[in-house]
Amino acid sequence: MSLLEVKDLSIRFNSLLAVDKLSFSLSRGEIGCLLGPSGCGKTTVLRAIAGFETPHAGEIALQDKNVSRPGWALATERRHVGMVFQDFALFPHLNVADNIGFGLHKLSQRNREERIRVLLSLVNLNGMEKKYPHELSGGQQQRVALARAVAPRPNLLLLDEPFSNIDIELREQLARDIREIVHRENTTALLVTHDQHEAFAVADHIGVLNSGRLHQWDTGYNLYHKPADLFVADFIGRGVLINGHIIDEHSIQTDFGIIENNPQSGGTLEPGDQINILIRPDDIIHDDNSEQTAKVLDKAFQGADFLYTLELENNVRVLCFAPSHHNHSIGERIGIRLELDHLVAFKKNI
Ligand code: ATP
Repeated sequence: MSLLEVKDLSIRFNSLLAVDKLSFSLSRGEIGCLLGPSGCGKTTVLRAIAGFETPHAGEIALQDKNVSRPGWALATERRHVGMVFQDFALFPHLNVADNIGFGLHKLSQRNREERIRVLLSLVNLNGMEKKYPHELSGGQQQRVALARAVAPRPNLLLLDEPFSNIDIELREQLARDIREIVHRENTTALLVTHDQHEAFAVADHIGVLNSGRLHQWDTGYNLYHKPADLFVADFIGRGVLINGHIIDEHSIQTDFGIIENNPQSGGTLEPGDQINILIRPDDIIHDDNSEQTAKVLDKAFQGADFLYTLELENNVRVLCFAPSHHNHSIGERIGIRLELDHLVAFKKNI
């Protein structure tokens, strides 16, 4: 049984189709993420699951119970979902304990206090219960918002860009906190973000959206290594697309020569097919001892690594990560090895 099932969901704002036949599901205990560029429809989907938007077509079910269908949406307060907003939305006149306990009015005072104590400890805010939101850092406020959202034990936790108001250094910690809270509370979560690193850090399943359409619902690993289409290949990770065509099932002709490979593709590839081949920076290995060389066109220092832009034969450009103690100059030729064992190719629509 799915905890959340979104089926063929479409949402319109006048002539704009903001969400277009979207389908995915989450099982209890899973963390899902909707990822995509600004305006792709992520927040609209989250708002529809929360009950703030009514579908134009399709439906949403929570624990197998239909909660949204065309023209009808069950009221938000009857869905047992918890929400964490971008700006935390804490009550400024309530202290930490009262913010966390806000949705617990049905509990006896003793049980309420006990639940607040457990949650304070879960989000590492022991001793802060009497502080007011303005006395907390952004990271602490976000943890109060998380504790408040999970306090009434919602079936589903919805998080809208939970990292956006948090310092970059604290984001990894927040990702770990979210995973810990979801698993310890045995709940299920769906977040939206435009940042793939945040999605990778938190989610079990990630949906890549563009223009209201879901291109792929998959693990972060598969989005990177087995992108379903060109949009996902381009949006996730770094890489370049080079031209090629299929010679036979063992080899492809590319802009920089023949590669012995049977690339993976969303559909079947046949001899003669024109293709785009995805080359990731980790397919190109810098090796000072290699006889094959490439010219450094550009370099970006990234701490542990340099990201080099290299030019191969026939003006083909590729990217390559190399440890940053390999500090080569622009214009220099450096040794490389191509490790193209797991190529992904997309048939061109000609
Ligand atoms: P961002 O990352 O910038 O928040 P998003 O992916 O969450 O973007 P949405 O906020 O879901 O995108 O918006 C999707 C599209 O629907 C956008 O083109 C937006 O302008 C439009 N839209 C959203 N809400 C409304 C509304 N209430 N009325 C009209 N258009 C809307």
